[in-house]
Amino acid sequence: MSKKPVKISSIRRWLKDYQVIRQYRLQWILAITFVFVAAGATLAVPIAFRQLIDTGLTSQAVHREFIYLLVIAVVLALGTASRFYFMSWLGERVVADMRDRVFQNVLRQSPSYFETLQSGEVLSRLTSDTTLIQTLVGTSISLALRSSVMAIGGIGMMLATSPWLAGMMVGLLLFTVLPLWAFGRRVRKMSRASQDKVADASAIAGEILSAMPTVQAFVREPYEQKRYRTAVELAFTVAKERIKVRSMLTALAITLAFSVIVFVLWVGALQVGTGQITIGQLTQFVLYAALVSGSIGALSEVWGDLQRASGATERLVELIQAKPAIAFDHHGIDDSPNQLQRQMETIGALAATQTEAIQFANVSFSYPSRPTFLALDHLNLTIPKGQSYALVGPSGAGKSTIFSLLLRFYEPQSGAINIFGCTIEQWPIDELRHLIGIVPQEPLIFANSALENIRYGRLNATDDEVIAAAKMAYADEFISALPEGYHSFLGERGVRLSGGQKQRISIARAILKNPFILLLDEATASLDAESERAVQKALNALLPGKTALIIAHRLATVLRADRIFVLDEGRIVEEGTHTELLEKNGLYARLAKLQFTA
Ligand code: ADP
Repeated sequence: MSKKPVKISSIRRWLKDYQVIRQYRLQWILAITFVFVAAGATLAVPIAFRQLIDTGLTSQAVHREFIYLLVIAVVLALGTASRFYFMSWLGERVVADMRDRVFQNVLRQSPSYFETLQSGEVLSRLTSDTTLIQTLVGTSISLALRSSVMAIGGIGMMLATSPWLAGMMVGLLLFTVLPLWAFGRRVRKMSRASQDKVADASAIAGEILSAMPTVQAFVREPYEQKRYRTAVELAFTVAKERIKVRSMLTALAITLAFSVIVFVLWVGALQVGTGQITIGQLTQFVLYAALVSGSIGALSEVWGDLQRASGATERLVELIQAKPAIAFDHHGIDDSPNQLQRQMETIGALAATQTEAIQFANVSFSYPSRPTFLALDHLNLTIPKGQSYALVGPSGAGKSTIFSLLLRFYEPQSGAINIFGCTIEQWPIDELRHLIGIVPQEPLIFANSALENIRYGRLNATDDEVIAAAKMAYADEFISALPEGYHSFLGERGVRLSGGQKQRISIARAILKNPFILLLDEATASLDAESERAVQKALNALLPGKTALIIAHRLATVLRADRIFVLDEGRIVEEGTHTELLEKNGLYARLAKLQFTA
């Protein structure tokens, strides 16, 4: 993940796209209205005091002014509560929207993105960065609005009370703003650094937690503890710098503001002595001056928050605007039965006119992280429709890479990949992936029921269809024997399955998906004889008539394959049937002797 700063203009562009103002116009209008109501009520208080003092505290005036004060209190209370409600509502809403958008965009990224991005980092951004923005919108903006209105209104009222004193005060206050501005910029830089360090620590914790069995097996708890502590301490050190600057900012702000007020009052007191203004007027002026300086103090705090949140916003906008390396031209196939079926029928009609399902023509490919190393080197291979071909080769030969290119996780630097006569780029990415089914070497089981785990292959499948697929995959027997049958929870927080059982769940998923092309990566780990038989039987149910490419590790599989490709260093070095290849006595014959378990 690049750490290069995003220009403020990109935040602005994002805000425009997002239309946070237009979408929630009513809430904004109400919130701002109540800001004015509450500020107006506060600004009315000093008037009552001046009148009390200047009318000499006669009982009639006392009654009138105190009733007036009570009414103001009620208006102030209602205005403040309503402002709080709508502003906080907006804060929560913006954060919910942001979380959703960040996640949506992260899901669209190509695999190369996830090679360098740690999931802990995304999680930290989704939680702590968005929380900062929530504070900003829900509290800081509200405070800023209130303080600005109070400051401007207060200054207006001060001008009305005593233009001369007010003019002097405003002039001096403006002069104090400049140093505060300069400090604010430093806080902003530091807060971004601080959030980055927190994200780094989360990434480390995430990595460690997901590898606990390894950590414990190597007794590396103290080592990992130290690694995490170092990251946390670094985050603390950086945060300490930030709060130091921030406290200096606060000290400076308070000193400057109070000096100005004290100086102006000094002059005011002298004016009362010479009779230029009344005591009531001076009291009113003092109250306004206190309100204004309080508001300006609050504004400088908000300024710090704003700096912090803009660091967070930059990083979130980075995630929201990251462009996938391979354009994710989703055509909106959403597993709704009709649409998906229509799409698949169109593909079926196209496939019917073709004799070749997959063709690699002169394909060369290097992984982005190893640009000088050819994982595939001018590779040519053709797989006719309806046949199953096996891929055999030493580890690192490029077998899995072929799968990744077929799924268009990466794009080759040269050569062409055709699927049913169309180049891979002509297929919308979602259609391409709907027409291919994959049974990976280590199938992923979600923390969900057996039923839902299989249904992942086709979301609109009925329970009966799921069970039928499980039966075909020889998974029905062991699933039925689980405590709650198909409703048993699997995966991390449920029943742990054996390797062979996971494979059969994964095969059931593929059967349910019923793809045009099947990519199968056989488990290298040896299964016990019974599992092995069950998996082979499941494959017998899945494979006939299907176009399949299988990374083969078992004799039974290569024997069944229509043809075998032998891959070495990114090239096809031999091809033929098992007997033909054994007769050649080349790489295949050697591998067969070493690899194939009967
Ligand atoms: P096989 O599946 O035949 O064991 P792979 O297709 O996984 O081989 O790998 C082919 C070559 O590409 C290997 O040298 C491997 O180290 C390299 N490789 C695989 N995945 C990546 C990746 N994500 N980034 C960089 N190199 C990779």
